[in-house]
Amino acid sequence: MSSEASTLKRQRTESYSTGNVVDTCGKTSFGTYSMGLPRTDTLILPPFMADIETRHPDLWFEDGSVILSAKDTLFRVYKGILCDASPVFRDLFTVPQPPDREMMEGCPVIRLNDSEEDMENFLKVLFQGIRAMRTVEGPVAASVYWPITRALIRLGDKYQVDELLEEGKERLQARLPGTLAAWDELYYPHGIEDDEDVWPDSVHAIAMANLASQHNMAEVHVRALYRCTLLEPATLVGGCPGPEGTREYLSPPDLARCMAARTALVKWDVLMRFNLLSTPQKLDCCPRGYKKIRILLTDYDHLMSDLSMPLDFLGRASWVRRRCEEAHLCTDCTELYMNAYSNTRQAMFSELRIYMGIYSNQ
Ligand SMILES: [Zn+2]
Repeated sequence: MSSEASTLKRQRTESYSTGNVVDTCGKTSFGTYSMGLPRTDTLILPPFMADIETRHPDLWFEDGSVILSAKDTLFRVYKGILCDASPVFRDLFTVPQPPDREMMEGCPVIRLNDSEEDMENFLKVLFQGIRAMRTVEGPVAASVYWPITRALIRLGDKYQVDELLEEGKERLQARLPGTLAAWDELYYPHGIEDDEDVWPDSVHAIAMANLASQHNMAEVHVRALYRCTLLEPATLVGGCPGPEGTREYLSPPDLARCMAARTALVKWDVLMRFNLLSTPQKLDCCPRGYKKIRILLTDYDHLMSDLSMPLDFLGRASWVRRRCEEAHLCTDCTELYMNAYSNTRQAMFSELRIYMGIYSNQ
């Protein structure tokens, strides 16, 4: 994204307010808690309001100097650190405030329309640093890891904390690596022969694709869309869970790409079979095995069971190896087939953009 486009986007999406909530269309609406309530420097919320809004258990510092409110959660943090990290907060605090601005326990209250989960993770990274960033890498930790990545990108962008935005983008990139070797290490940690691995963060594939697209990460977007094609159709159309019960949907063009890609990937599968069938045989080795594997690759029953969707086409090594075992090919002959498969797979990964229907830089 050009810096000009980035500036325009920021102008369009930012909304902050002290006391009132400004929605993303620019219309001002009064926050639930500020409408018609008396404001004093000590307590502005009547008891029933205090029941609704909750102080965050970790991000409420007794000597904090500003209270941020996101949905139903209050964060009492330090104005100086916010200003140092974010030019947006800096500008916000330098604007002269009206005498009746909302206060609580001597601190100004800033009402934000961000998700409380995003705000929690963003502030954790800002105020707790490495402690919040430290996650156990690998598929098991992936679902824990994603909300932090999302918060860093969304709020790092919105509040112009460039360091956190870049960290978030690097983390997103790490979930969708650009080399097949890195992809295998992440998604097939037990070797690509094991296709039983569960990817706990698959459920966030749509959100990953959307964030990559919004931040002009073209190649990451392509690889996120590939992961979207592996989702069940109901999830692909019905969306993935977002923060606080919201849902993330693919844009109509991306949804169309994923649907079209399924056909393109099945064609790739056919091409891969032809490549395997035309693999040069070792002379006088495993003649019966070669005959058998040709049947296994092409007969109706096997084709029907192999091509039931969704399929992770990049991870079909186990399938090829099993066919070689069924055909009783020797180790050397199996290796010939596995190499042929590996070459076809590498070609597909390199051309994933074309399979996903994206032919130029967006
Ligand atoms: Zn052989």
